[in-house]
Amino acid sequence: MDPRELTFKGEESAAALACGACGTVYRLNESALAERCCRKPVCECGAECAKGYSICAGCLGERRSAQRRAAFEQAEKVAYDAYDGEYVLLEDDRYLAHDALEEAVYEMIRNGDPSLPAPLGTSHLPLFGYSVEVSGMPRIDAIDVLEGALEEYYDGAMDDVDANGLQRALDGWVAEQYLRAFFPGDKVVTLTSLLDRMVDQVEWDDLARDEPEWDDASRIDGGPRS
Ligand SMILES: [Zn+2]
Ligand SMILES: [Zn+2]
Repeated sequence: MDPRELTFKGEESAAALACGACGTVYRLNESALAERCCRKPVCECGAECAKGYSICAGCLGERRSAQRRAAFEQAEKVAYDAYDGEYVLLEDDRYLAHDALEEAVYEMIRNGDPSLPAPLGTSHLPLFGYSVEVSGMPRIDAIDVLEGALEEYYDGAMDDVDANGLQRALDGWVAEQYLRAFFPGDKVVTLTSLLDRMVDQVEWDDLARDEPEWDDASRIDGGPRS
């Protein structure tokens, strides 16, 4: 802030700039930087910003959630029953295969507060998740590998080795790897149908549990349980 011009002893023209507050030296063409030096950045809302930011923490949080909301609204929505991906990503960052997701939802319904009426008691359930892209081992480019390996060698060394042969070997190796990586997809998977089904399932299981147990004596054949 308040930049001051620095001159060499005995010379007239300025050689550099210095921040008027802390004395940090800037080049002549960095007057904007020198002006900003030591000046606490202020957000549009008037709040002070952390060092290196031109937006305050509160506004940054709001901007990010607005971006997330917009991304959510724009995303293609696909119903769980129509979703053909193998995994669903939940908001808590869990990547779950269908059976694990169904089990997790079942448990969440079970652990819900039973004293609350249905929609309230299940308000903690995930209403949606995100699609998941599953990727295997990516292709390794032979030219990239050779460029790294031969970096220090003579010009044209690349032309003296069999890059195609290496590519074939790499392709074969890549095909043998069982590497799977999960990446968030760009679709929103709505889970309403799954939730309905799992709520029904929990109710059925509760009913079944409340039925009197058949004991050995009441079995028609009276034989041992298999
Ligand atoms: Zn300064
Ligand atoms: Zn702000």
